[in-house]
Amino acid sequence: MTSNSVYLQVAIPVPMRQSFTYLVPEALAELSFTKGDRVLVPFGNRKLIGVVLAVTTDSQVATTKLKAILERLADESKLSPEQIDFLSVCARYYHHPIGDVVSQALPVLLRQIKPVDLTPEQCWKINAELSNEDLNKIIKKLAKSAAKQQALYQYISDHGELTWPEIRMAGFLKSQITALIKKQLIIAGTVKSEAFVFTDDCINCADKLSLSVEQAVVVSSVNQQLDGFSCHLIDGITGSGKTEVYLQIIEEVLKRSQQVLILVPEIGLTPQTLQRFEKRFRVPVVLHHSGLNDSERLQTWHRTKKGEAAIVIATRSGVFAPLVNPGIIVVDEEHDGSLKQQEGFRYHARDLAILRARQLDIPIVLGSATPALETLQNALSGRYQYHQLTKRPGNSNIAKIELIDMAQQQVEFGLSGSLKKAIEVTLARGEQVLIFLNRRGFAPAISCQECHWIAECQRCNKPYTLHQKQGLLVCHHCGSQKRIPAQCGKCGSIRIKPLGQGTEQLEQRIGDLFPEYSAIRIDRDSTSRKGELAKLLQQVTDKEHQILVGTQMLAKGHHFPDVTLVAVLDVDGALFSYDFRAPEHMAQLLVQVSGRAGRASKPGKVMVQTHYPEHPLLQDLVQNGYQHFARYALIEREQARIPPFGFQALFRAEAAYPSLPESFLRQISNQNFTDCLISGPVAAAQEKKAGKYRYHLLLQANDRKHLHAAVQQLLKNIEQSELQNKVRWTVDIDPQELSW
Ligand code: ADP
Ligand code: ZN
Ligand code: ZN
Repeated sequence: MTSNSVYLQVAIPVPMRQSFTYLVPEALAELSFTKGDRVLVPFGNRKLIGVVLAVTTDSQVATTKLKAILERLADESKLSPEQIDFLSVCARYYHHPIGDVVSQALPVLLRQIKPVDLTPEQCWKINAELSNEDLNKIIKKLAKSAAKQQALYQYISDHGELTWPEIRMAGFLKSQITALIKKQLIIAGTVKSEAFVFTDDCINCADKLSLSVEQAVVVSSVNQQLDGFSCHLIDGITGSGKTEVYLQIIEEVLKRSQQVLILVPEIGLTPQTLQRFEKRFRVPVVLHHSGLNDSERLQTWHRTKKGEAAIVIATRSGVFAPLVNPGIIVVDEEHDGSLKQQEGFRYHARDLAILRARQLDIPIVLGSATPALETLQNALSGRYQYHQLTKRPGNSNIAKIELIDMAQQQVEFGLSGSLKKAIEVTLARGEQVLIFLNRRGFAPAISCQECHWIAECQRCNKPYTLHQKQGLLVCHHCGSQKRIPAQCGKCGSIRIKPLGQGTEQLEQRIGDLFPEYSAIRIDRDSTSRKGELAKLLQQVTDKEHQILVGTQMLAKGHHFPDVTLVAVLDVDGALFSYDFRAPEHMAQLLVQVSGRAGRASKPGKVMVQTHYPEHPLLQDLVQNGYQHFARYALIEREQARIPPFGFQALFRAEAAYPSLPESFLRQISNQNFTDCLISGPVAAAQEKKAGKYRYHLLLQANDRKHLHAAVQQLLKNIEQSELQNKVRWTVDIDPQELSW
């Protein structure tokens, strides 16, 4: 028997672009259902967790065909109506299945049927009962025998209360906690469970800086508009004090006892920024990032939802955080590529953050030294409020970029003579050097010296990368691994040599070239273990190493005051890319890395190696800076009617035979649209990957309405296509990468 007065529209994590209607069984008729409820439903012969999108009094489907839900789950883990409205908008905008979109907003443990454990999280604080005398004695002893334990004690003492994920993020170990407990220096407790309310001692005023005129203008402008939606771009050169501006805006929001959401590219990469937030505000801060395990994520989610967390610092999926009393959203480094999810639900966290702020009717602040051209155009056209910070506090100058013409140079291990000289001079002055090479591994290929055979991944038709330390060949396209062959795969010769250079080799060569100095490497391979990155970054700050070799990963937001020379070994790839965004990304990278040089009182220098020093894009950037470069790039984009002056969607398809994705895309696009241009199908830049052949179709329109209408039509065509199950296809709205 069912109660026939209400129907539930439920989102279920299945790849169908629809919600499903369910009945409420008689046994649950007493409950009042609202959107956001988590329910257990029968689906085929499975049971799944769904989320109620709407409660209606009539049904489109005949009641006799409907099934009833099995259960309604714990109330404290439901989504809010505001979240449901937001997620529905997201699903419509990205033409993505609502069930999958809703999943993004639920921690993994809440998508499972097993009941969840919600006991408050454990934390550690200093033992206040220890007398000062005892304390001093123990600390002195620690300083001699266990410096790390002493540092942890200090860290906990500075922060009041810390959970294990927070302690781990700072680079400490569980064994160090245990040791401090044994010595009775710290004690365990549980995280307080109360909604955040502002009190005067939430702010550490001692740390507050007096603002420059430029900064003060931004702070007061935003702070006067905290009562409703407004979107601000802070376009400030590196080191111009954007973070201080965020801090003083956030202070005002905290004073209203409201929550703050801060989206950052990658949390592990910006420990210093984090520390500045924690030092300034004595309020509960939660971190939401990929380094958390499932139960830690659940804790973070609940602390946010209960309003305990005053500040949520998160990577892109934090845009779905269950805020209850939000006051502002900040998106730092808004140009950063990691804000866009590149698989499954392909959303852009910056764009969604703006949508959400509008829906919540709160302000949003975007900040960057190198704004994305989309954002810059919105600011220049007046849709966003445009704030510029053009000066650095104090007298430090932005490092100048110097191009090194590789044709004129003697090159050793990828380093030009001029660069080698500059490194020597910098090291001799006792300063540090940062060298970028965007290629992990030892060498991008291995090849036979007799017949020029190259070891290739059969699934991608691309060379394997040599990872010497691991003794492996790794395909950077599909991840497959293989032992290093002793002989050529074609002629059998044993004269196999690495071809080209990656960071692993560079680190080794640098060590040979500058044996008196210590070099380390920071890339995905060297920092894959938890806590490793924080440890390495600390060693650099402590000047244990003089030379840092790394990938792009190092370009983001670090402050290394003693790095005065930054070298970029190779930028040429970006100058001739098929992707119209490649020059923009190259310019952003170069400007961001320049920001790493000479941040303190010491002047810095940036050297960029290229075979094309006369290239107009490079010249413009070097001579005139990002601002100028960006405005010219916008003029070019306007003439070509490409984003931000046109709107794009990309249908991708792949299958084991090339004819399948091609025919599929041809079939679904076999009609004319007056207001939307369809190009393709064409083979992707990398036609074969992991054994699959890849094709795409690019849709382009002058306004969003027409783009969406065409996408909708193609999706309908897909439903009719008999090839739809023979290919894997996706649709990407506002694609960021056209060469895939
Ligand atoms: P950005 O985030 O724009 O790269 P930061 O906020 O990190 O810049 O500021 C760079 C440096 O300038 C920091 O060391 C910061 O403490 C300092 N700074 C920022 N604002 C001021 C100010 N108003 N007065 C003095 N120093 C400042
Ligand atoms: Zn050979
Ligand atoms: Zn491969």
